[in-house]
Amino acid sequence: MRILIVEDEPGIANFVKQGLEEESFAVDISTDGTEGLDLALTGNYDLILLDWMLPGISGIEVCRNIRESDSETPIIFLTAKDTVRDTVFGLQAGANDYIKKPFAFEELLERIRVQLRPKTGEHEKFSLGNIVLDTRSHRVLKGDKEIALTQKEFALLEFLLRNKGKVCRRTQIIESVWDIHFEYNTGVIDVYINSLRNKLELEDSGAHIKTVRGVGYIAVEPES
Ligand code: CA
Repeated sequence: MRILIVEDEPGIANFVKQGLEEESFAVDISTDGTEGLDLALTGNYDLILLDWMLPGISGIEVCRNIRESDSETPIIFLTAKDTVRDTVFGLQAGANDYIKKPFAFEELLERIRVQLRPKTGEHEKFSLGNIVLDTRSHRVLKGDKEIALTQKEFALLEFLLRNKGKVCRRTQIIESVWDIHFEYNTGVIDVYINSLRNKLELEDSGAHIKTVRGVGYIAVEPES
């Protein structure tokens, strides 16, 4: 899952980015309203965290502009403006949620998870064979054995399992798992895929992460 932070205070932006990366999100930062809007409209993000007072154009304008063409991507305001009137104004501009500074990271994370929760309201668990990935506890279990994955391995597996049975193109994987500074090199993905296959020991459960030559990868259940 990929998140854009539009925030001109580097301390806050980097603090949030680091925390989210520890939860296996891919995170880009923009420190300017105009650039942030540009990225938001072109970058294929799963969620946007938006400051209100920004150089360039304000967060409110950024939010309104995004909503003109995109009614889906969740937007959460992160702002020091804290009156009821401000909150209402922010939500009316099209934001899904509004968090006042200073905030606790744990609360921000939970509010992000609420926005990203599947519409069915189900707990976010994804499975493949006897492997279960739990996004909330950030654990991967194979049967009752816990598999230790790196942040990127976890994010890659999550993406493949969210799209189980569908071919995931390399470009889609890069967009979801790596941030904007990733240098396009598909060899890196192969390394991570092989590492996942080894750690998960997929063959013995019949489940696979298959290579679709020239295109990408697909997670498939054991044949019954
Ligand atoms: Ca600001």
